[in-house]
Amino acid sequence: MAFEKQTFWDDVSNAGSIGIAGHIRPDGDCVGSALGLASYIRDNFGKEPTVYLEELPKAFDFLTGGDKVVTGYPYREEPFDLFISVDCGDDGRLGKAMEYVKKAKKTYCIDHHATSNGFLENNLVKPEAAATAQIIYTLLDDSKVTLGTAEALYLGIVHDTGVFKHSCTTRETMEIAGALLDHGVSSSRIIDGTFFEKTYLQNQILGRCLMESILCLDGRVIFSSIDRKTINLYGLAPADTEGIIDQLRVTKGVEVAILIRELTPRSWRVSMRSCEIVDVSKICAMFGGGGHVRAAGATMSGSRRDVINNLTAEIEKQLINRE
Ligand code: 5GP
Ligand code: MN
Repeated sequence: MAFEKQTFWDDVSNAGSIGIAGHIRPDGDCVGSALGLASYIRDNFGKEPTVYLEELPKAFDFLTGGDKVVTGYPYREEPFDLFISVDCGDDGRLGKAMEYVKKAKKTYCIDHHATSNGFLENNLVKPEAAATAQIIYTLLDDSKVTLGTAEALYLGIVHDTGVFKHSCTTRETMEIAGALLDHGVSSSRIIDGTFFEKTYLQNQILGRCLMESILCLDGRVIFSSIDRKTINLYGLAPADTEGIIDQLRVTKGVEVAILIRELTPRSWRVSMRSCEIVDVSKICAMFGGGGHVRAAGATMSGSRRDVINNLTAEIEKQLINRE
């Protein structure tokens, strides 16, 4: 069903209970979108949505409502009157929060992934938007935005644009970020404190991945991998490897960067980024994942060599088609 803004707010206004969830392995846009929307609803409708996330990364827990986030998807008998999924394009990525969705009386999806498949009753999907937080801002009345909402949405935009540097960043992105700054957001607190600041461990693993990275396809592709042994040795959490892929991507001459992380033996979490030619969301979708044209992910099985060979073969096809 098409999304209708007034109907959405009428539904929020009429709902006795509201649930909000984002995708599994939540990133900044996912957390910022969920908490920003929850905060706006709390401030303007006098109701408290329940926010479900698989986990809340430490760097984001200062956000308003961070202390109320429910992790671990506890069983809930009672259906929600309204359930809103943010920054998630399909049921698999919503994880166990799908249980709440299945029972909910009304459901909405607000998302910007190119591979978003309109899996809920009402879907607002804008692949051209740099971040889901950016889409959420367009639904709000700016005069009713508080600092808590503004900080969360600004954080979402900062993270999905790589601090306004990815090609998805548009004039609208900057204007919305500017409007959020007018609400008193401290850009340095959000940008340095949640994006650039790295722990010693994160820097160590970044250094290791860069040192062990391999160039292939005439220097157009760079890849690096982190196996179980390394993960256990350093005690790495998924958040500890964020940002590594972005450093790989900016290697001179590289079109595509790949980082794979071993989840369980022969099962790998894949992250891909491209610069200007290859559609990585298409490649990840072929292997059951998805994402955006320039940033996508998937979970793949096989040996390290199998995974890299499968991915580079698809990259090569796209590069050849362009020549
Ligand atoms: P990352 O490499 O940072 O994990 O993910 C890059 C982008 O692709 C993010 O926008 C993320 O939401 C999306 N993405 C990552 N993994 C998957 C996946 O398995 N399925 C889908 N549909 N999207 C993914
Ligand atoms: Mn996003």
